Amino acid sequence: MTDAATRGAQVIEANHFSIDIDIRCAGCEYNLRGLTVDSRCPECGMPILETLRSLAQAFVHQDQAGSLGKLRRQLATKVAAVVGVPRDGVLFVMDALGVARRRHDNRHVTARELCDGLRERAMAYFNDIDEARDLLAEWGLRTSEDVGRIVFGLISAGLAQAAEGDSESNFDGLFTLDNLFASGWLDPE
Ligand SMILES: [Zn+2]
Repeated sequence: MTDAATRGAQVIEANHFSIDIDIRCAGCEYNLRGLTVDSRCPECGMPILETLRSLAQAFVHQDQAGSLGKLRRQLATKVAAVVGVPRDGVLFVMDALGVARRRHDNRHVTARELCDGLRERAMAYFNDIDEARDLLAEWGLRTSEDVGRIVFGLISAGLAQAAEGDSESNFDGLFTLDNLFASGWLDPE
């Protein structure tokens, strides 16, 4: 098996856990509590991952309290274990994906747009550039290639979708922590 296939198999294994909060099926609003993440809604047949994908991509602060935040952290933990990065790194990329999609009317975003979303999210989330660099490094987000690995981990887990022409190599060379904030540190509007 290729590395990607091995990773995919591990993610499928990782998705075989039960949902222990009330969450409504995106197709029919059936309560999915107690079902496993890799199964289907018993009412309408929609894969539960489709409901979770919208949750994973919705712009939700990574420290969000409550049951949705808890499920989001559980999903991120599974992906983190497979990709081999800290959970906070996965959560931050999920946040960046949410920011980028919101900037682009919820359409599919490119690698470059996602990295722009990550920079924007960083400037809103961290107090200053030094803190941003320190924590992003600690979370395994040192380069755009690191972001690409996590995005493709999310895709393998069914929590994000790839479009035609998407590949991990689209993330090559887009940023390092030395140049991510080269255009300056802007406090959010
Ligand atoms: Zn349903």
